[in-house]
Amino acid sequence: MRRVSIFGATGSIGQNTIDLISRAPDDYDVVALTGAGNIAQLAADARRLGADIAITAHDHLLEELRTALSGSDVEAAAGTAALTEAASRPADWVMSAIVGAAGLAPGLTALEQGATLALANKESLVCAGHLMLETARRHEARLLPVDSEHSAVFQALAGEDINAVERVIITASGGAFRDWDIDDLAHATLDEASSHPNWDMGQRITIDSASMFNKAMELIETREYFGVFPDQIEVLVHPESLIHAMVGFKDGALMAHVGPPDMRHAIGYALHWPERRALPVERLDLAAIGQLSFRAPCNTRWPALRLAREVMQTGGLAGAVFNAAKETALDGFIAGKIGFTGMAEVVEEVLNLVDAQPGHIDATMTLDNVAATDHLARREAWSVINKRAGQ
Ligand code: NAD
Ligand code: MG
Repeated sequence: MRRVSIFGATGSIGQNTIDLISRAPDDYDVVALTGAGNIAQLAADARRLGADIAITAHDHLLEELRTALSGSDVEAAAGTAALTEAASRPADWVMSAIVGAAGLAPGLTALEQGATLALANKESLVCAGHLMLETARRHEARLLPVDSEHSAVFQALAGEDINAVERVIITASGGAFRDWDIDDLAHATLDEASSHPNWDMGQRITIDSASMFNKAMELIETREYFGVFPDQIEVLVHPESLIHAMVGFKDGALMAHVGPPDMRHAIGYALHWPERRALPVERLDLAAIGQLSFRAPCNTRWPALRLAREVMQTGGLAGAVFNAAKETALDGFIAGKIGFTGMAEVVEEVLNLVDAQPGHIDATMTLDNVAATDHLARREAWSVINKRAGQ
């Protein structure tokens, strides 16, 4: 039996992970499941899977969780320290699927235990890629990508020499507004931004797909995870979302990974790696699909892509600033304080503001310094947002 823990178990990736492990319950011993506000889901899954412990990120929901788990053997806990404690419990395979920078500390702790970390939480790599990879190396832990593009690249690279790679192409559906008139984007509503043409995902990553911040994060994720240079990474708009990524080699060959837009593929690949096992995903009928289309991404429509390239150029803790500013700008958009195109403007302003303050971007990448930079960038971002909102 493999001991598994799922951080962010109640979310979209977490539920897809639970779907897979529930199909072979005798193969897995569930250690920890975590969530935030959805206590009913967390408790029901923890009972059904016989988890050792269930943790909510919110201290004030501890009593509700205890009540929901009463009569079971599942321990209840709450708060960030409890999340880290749960990540220190021995497990063979840990899914990192918390959304946002909150996923960084539990992921690092799991790596310190030498666990295999299946990483959906791309924010960890954007904020602290060097720290994540260095921690994995020091503790002989394995980090496996769960983003569909990065899983695709990882699979295309199997058995290949990374030095033979010329370029990496990650695809983007273009999100909800790929065909909108650019002038209409400023007035896009929260509802319009919250529906994705191809993927069924959490609300935050869905909005990030419409603004292309998701792909911007993935550019940085590609750079950090595979160690390729920024100018080797390309974004290609591919509205059908069937090719997830391509790797171009020195000899001109392109290896493409093709599959249905179903995260259970990337999750299952990381779960069974280095084996391949049967997965309950649709088998594509390419003759019925007929054709696939591609377009170059437009930097005017999606300034997030340009910002990500600037962040890669700056290096150091610029990724932590970028991520925190992006998360806050998204909070501001969800709260109705800024418009859709205001998000990229806020991120750009915060990058410039923090960049101009000595000592932040160049600080050593420790968890404390990343947290301090994250905190500073969020504060600056709220002040920019409130100023724009006239508050
Ligand atoms: P989601 O919003 O559906 O779920 C997020 C999970 O994190 C939930 O379990 C929630 O309870 C928990 N959570 C939220 N705030 C928290 C906090 N402050 N502290 C601790 N836990 C908290 O998100 P999702 O779509 O499943 O995405 C999860 C991660 O996977 C993100 O980093 C996202 O970018 C990445 N990802 C998602 C997809 C997808 O298809 N959904 C694809 C690729 C990558
Ligand atoms: Mg992705």
